[in-house]
Amino acid sequence: MSSDSAVQTEHLTKQFKQRIAVDAVSLEVHRGEIFGFLGPNGAGKTTTIAMLLGLIRPTRGRAIVLGHDIQQEPGAALRRVGAMIEAPAFYPYLSGWNNLRVLTRAAGLPDTRIDAVLEIVELQARAHDRFRTYSQGMKQRLAIAATLLAEPELIILDEPTNGLDPAGTVELRSLIRTLAEQGQTIFLCSHQLHEVEQVCRRVAILKQGRVLAQGSVAELLQQRRRVQVRVVASAPRALELLRTVPWIGAVEQQGDLLLVDVAGSRAPEVNALLTRHDIPVAEIRTRTESLEQFFLEITGEQGC
Ligand code: ATP
Repeated sequence: MSSDSAVQTEHLTKQFKQRIAVDAVSLEVHRGEIFGFLGPNGAGKTTTIAMLLGLIRPTRGRAIVLGHDIQQEPGAALRRVGAMIEAPAFYPYLSGWNNLRVLTRAAGLPDTRIDAVLEIVELQARAHDRFRTYSQGMKQRLAIAATLLAEPELIILDEPTNGLDPAGTVELRSLIRTLAEQGQTIFLCSHQLHEVEQVCRRVAILKQGRVLAQGSVAELLQQRRRVQVRVVASAPRALELLRTVPWIGAVEQQGDLLLVDVAGSRAPEVNALLTRHDIPVAEIRTRTESLEQFFLEITGEQGC
């Protein structure tokens, strides 16, 4: 495997009796990037993460984490991995600092790590307040602090902004960016597509256990750019004409707006063609989809 991969899976598959939860998933997460792992409910995200963490055994295929096969060398693979996969259990009556001390003692880590991680998640000012007095955002940040104690190279976060208000979400997003800037790799599983689009460089979209798309957000959206043409009073004629052109894909009509499946760079040709046929073009531009629109189109979901 290439040395710049933090995670690589090859045809990773998990079958529970008759149900194939994860179906030949091949992922590649580069070191130092924020990778978004997306999919509707039941797509197989949690099952994939459980295999990456060695919690369940794949039926077929393999997962290599930080250069080590998770089945053959689980200890070496997981030593440098931090994961937040469900709402963490902290003692409500202990302070954030003391909760982390429970963890450092259990893991044989020095207490100096506690202050270091509380500083990263910006909780120093509230370090000695009881956990139960924390806001939801502070609780999530303490959970991330806990994953950072052992100085992981790879951090797996499953829905980290669940239950956060907009301000808490913004803070967490900025924390995720800070971690990546420090060289950590982030594997971010999220339903918040807007958030993923803002922080992730690359994504994989999963549905019914299969990867439907994988790549850089910019490239995936670039492929989906469509030309949007507004024609006045000639939409049916324009539609008929454009549908006969071999280099144009599907054409969809929305009132006097036509959405044309063709690379944005060919907008001038579309314009020339319509003008040549005496169809006045009121407006023509390329339209870039959001990650959310892209996701909904390829998964056929109403939302996830
Ligand atoms: P969500 O976003 O809802 O958490 P997910 O993408 O994490 O969904 P998984 O929890 O991985 O999806 O589930 C994938 C499929 O595998 C689902 O159909 C689920 O019912 C099934 N599944 C998961 N765990 C088991 C299990 N232990 N036994 C049987 N089926 C399971």
